[in-house]
Order: sequence, then C-alpha cells, then structure tokens
Amino acid sequence: MLIGGAWVESTSGASQDIQDPSDETLLASVPLANREDARAAIDAARDAFDTGPWPRTPPGKRGQVLVRLAELLQAETDRLAELEARNAGKPIRQASIADLPMAIEHTGHFGRLASKLVDEELELPDVGITTRVLREPIGVCAGIIPWNFPLLMAVWKVAPALAAGNTMVLKPATYTPLTALEYARLAEKAGLPPGALNVITGSGHEVGEELAAHPSVDKIAFTGSTKIGRAVMRNASDTLKRVTLELGGKAPMVILPNADQDEALRGALFGAFLHQGQVCLAGTRLLLPSAMRESFLRRLRQRAESLHLGPTLSWETDMGPLISASQRDRVEAYVAQGVEEGAALVHGGRRPPGLPKGYYLEPTIFDDVTPEMTIAREEIFGPVLSVMTYETCAEAVEMANATEYGLAASVWSRDLKEAQAVARDIRAGTVWVNQHHILSCAAPHGGYKQSGVGRELGIWGLYEYTEVKHLFLDESGEAMKDAFGLVQPD
Ligand code: NAD
Ligand code: MN
Repeated sequence: MLIGGAWVESTSGASQDIQDPSDETLLASVPLANREDARAAIDAARDAFDTGPWPRTPPGKRGQVLVRLAELLQAETDRLAELEARNAGKPIRQASIADLPMAIEHTGHFGRLASKLVDEELELPDVGITTRVLREPIGVCAGIIPWNFPLLMAVWKVAPALAAGNTMVLKPATYTPLTALEYARLAEKAGLPPGALNVITGSGHEVGEELAAHPSVDKIAFTGSTKIGRAVMRNASDTLKRVTLELGGKAPMVILPNADQDEALRGALFGAFLHQGQVCLAGTRLLLPSAMRESFLRRLRQRAESLHLGPTLSWETDMGPLISASQRDRVEAYVAQGVEEGAALVHGGRRPPGLPKGYYLEPTIFDDVTPEMTIAREEIFGPVLSVMTYETCAEAVEMANATEYGLAASVWSRDLKEAQAVARDIRAGTVWVNQHHILSCAAPHGGYKQSGVGRELGIWGLYEYTEVKHLFLDESGEAMKDAFGLVQPD
C-alpha cells in the first residue's frame, strides 16, 4: 500500500489473496489494512495538504503531472489491460478497447481541465465594485470504489481530486486493488509529491467506514451500491463532509415503435450484457411496444445465443465471469426469484457447461416481466435482462420512471423529435438516444433519485472537488464608505 510516499505492509501483517475470477487461481497477495492503517493514510494526506507542496502548486503545473501520468499509463497499456482483465474478469478486448483508453483519456482530460481553476473576476452591480471568486481545494478527500471498473473508477476519484489541489486516500474494492496500486506507482513516477495520493487495500466495513467517519477527511467520494452509499452518507454526516455518491441503477431501454430494429437489437445486447451486466449503467429493463415483442425477442435470443463466454484473456471472448462466487450466488438467487414470481425465463440462467472453473453465468433473458416483480425493481448486477411491453408512449415513460433509481436510460427511435420528447420526460442523469453506455470525459455522469448525489466527469466533476471562496477585495477603496449606516465616517 502507498502511505505518505512509502510502500508499506499493513501494521498487523495481515494480507489478502487476490483471485482471477475466470479460473479461481491466485493472482496476487496484498496487505489487508485495518483502521490503524486507514488513520495513518489519512494523517499522511492531512499532512500533505496542510504543509505539503501539492495544494500550493499552480493548477497548470498540477495538470502537467496528470498529463504525464496519462503518458505513463499509455506506455504500459498492454500490461495494464491484461492485469485489469485478469483481476476484474473483464474480457481482454473490452479492457483494451475501453478501460485503458478511457483511463488514459480521462486522466489527461482532468490534467488539462486543471487550468480552468483560475480566479474569476466578479462584478458586483449592487455594490459597484469588482471582486474575485476562487476555486480552492476542499482538503483531504477519500475515494471508495467498486470492482467493476477498477482502474477507471480510481481515475474518476484521483484525477479530479488531484487536479483541484486536494490530497487523497483511495480505497479500491477488496477484490480488485491491483490496477489502482499501479496507478499510484505511476503517479509517483509522474512527479506527484509524497502523501498527495495514498492507496490502502482493505475491507469496506473497516477501512471504508473509517474513511467516511474520520474528522480529518473533508470530502468522501463514493462509488458503489445504494445500500452502502446510504451508510457512507450517514457516517459522513457527523462531520458534515462534502459527499458525492455514484450509486446503483436500473436503466430502462425504451424501444419506440419506429426504432431501427437492428440497431436496437445490438443496443439491447450491449446495454444488458457488457461486462456480464456488472455495470451501473446497464440497460436491464427492455421496454418494447407489444406489437414488436415476438419478432424482437426471437432475434434477441438468437443473438444472445451467439455471445461467446470464455477466458478473459482470449480475444474471442465476449463475456467473462462474474467477479466472485458470492456475486454469482446473488445473481442466481434473482433468477430463481424471477421464475418464482412468474416471469418467463426464455434464455440462459445457467452456469455454462464447459467452463467448470470461474464464476460464469449465461446471458439471461426474462419475458413477461411486470413492473412489480423483484427483477424489474432491484439492481441485480449480473447478466439478467427483463423484457416488458407497453401500449402507448405515455405508458412507456411511466414504466421507465417507475424506479427508485435514476442513473441512465436509452431511447431508441428513427424519429429524433419523438425520441427527444421521451428522453426529456425520463428522470435520469444520462439519457442516450440510439445509444447506450457511451461516456465522455467532458460530459457529466451521475444519478437522479437514489442513484446518487453530485456528478463526476467534465467541469461538473472537477467542481465537486472545490470549495468556492469569495475574495472581497475592493481595489477602488470605496467599500467601507457607509458601513450600512452603523459607523459614521470620521
Ligand atoms: P459495494 O457498495 O458493495 O462496495 C463499494 C465499495 O465500498 C467497496 O470498495 C467496498 O469495500 C466499500 N464498502 C463496503 N462497505 C462499506 C462501508 N460500510 N463503508 C464504506 N465503504 C464500504 O459495491 P460493489 O459490489 O463493489 O459494486 C457494485 C455497485 O457499484 C453497484 O450497485 C453499481 O451500480 C455501483 N456502481 C455505480 C457506479 C456509478 O457511477 N453510479 C459505477 C460503478 C458501480
Ligand atoms: Mn458488494
């Protein structure tokens, strides 16, 4: 682990095994941090913030370190893609085409955005002078992240926090610490001063709780489940920390009657089964016009059949394993519940024959799902798609919004005017038209309703790591002239 510029073991000497979920082999062993280690990391970040050079480095110079970090990632991209694939159970094609390029791009983007954090002149028309607004770092930020995009989620916390001049303690997910540790190693190499970034590996219940509650932490940025997000917010409330939360989702894919069916079909597969459905943005509710149901479903099953499940390091593989045995158990319990509640299991739902090792599960499609069913309401975080039908457009919108989540949605139609009208009526942080899953480093990402608080990415994401200071400096010397009538001029 990296604490205060030193690579250390846990103080207790405990360690944890890191597995490859595609074949259950041991990949690495990392320290298992406890509360004492967490406090040491927080102290190091506190020290680096209060007395170290990083917060006092001009934004443009900080940005250069991040741009250099992006270049270092680029230089090791193949090795890191392989490590990510092996640790997260992510098909190598996706790690190479998506995770690594995005991690590099987003790191560089926040580096370039740092130069936007300059003082702004502010005209005060009522007072008649011009003052300044400063964007200052918040202080010590803690980042807690999930296992589905281990490197990218680390980037989304670390890069904006550092760009804005904060210091950070990052806790990767227990299963997937490896690429986050590599990111920290490269950040050091890029010139980040000691203590500006600390990475501790350990459990959520111990280390995560300590980070959320500790009074020396000024902001907590959490990505994970809505349930744990609530606990983080509660733990952070005693000290009124700044909190941003990126939580669960149950994204609808609304196929409108005149959608291009080939496109919508590809979108549905991509939306539901990318990374085995272990994506917060996953399109897990497919809303079809009832007249389209039979033909669409027939083709969807055929296409799902042809998805290739296999080892993560094979370039032929479309879908890898789930992250762990317990995650697969959880998903299988949802499949059983879907059947029990009367949905029609029309594809998958089994462990694929021929892959005895690893936590594989077939892409799974339920038809005849109604909005009250558990599989239509809860986030499953596995390859399970619920198909529902609607009669009118208004009904489709109502179904799309019938969820406590509001992270994302997609709308599919050749009529862009109609698609836009539906997109505007859906209560979600991102709505794609004829697209799903695509993210940009420049666009805000985050949730309505119980999908989160705040935004990541773009200038919105960067501002979440700043405090706003009004520096009232009256260069004209006019300001004290009336003192609200309380003190008469001499
Ligand atoms: P999780 O909530 O179980 O864990 C997330 C992180 O929190 C892990 O690092 C875990 O160790 C830590 N943690 C656990 N208990 C904690 C506690 N009491 N206090 C502080 N930290 C604690 O989520 P997961 O299973 O790792 O990931 C899946 C979830 O993440 C899904 O719900 C998914 O939707 C969500 N997610 C959201 C986004 C987004 O951008 N909105 C992105 C990816 C994943
Ligand atoms: Mn979990």
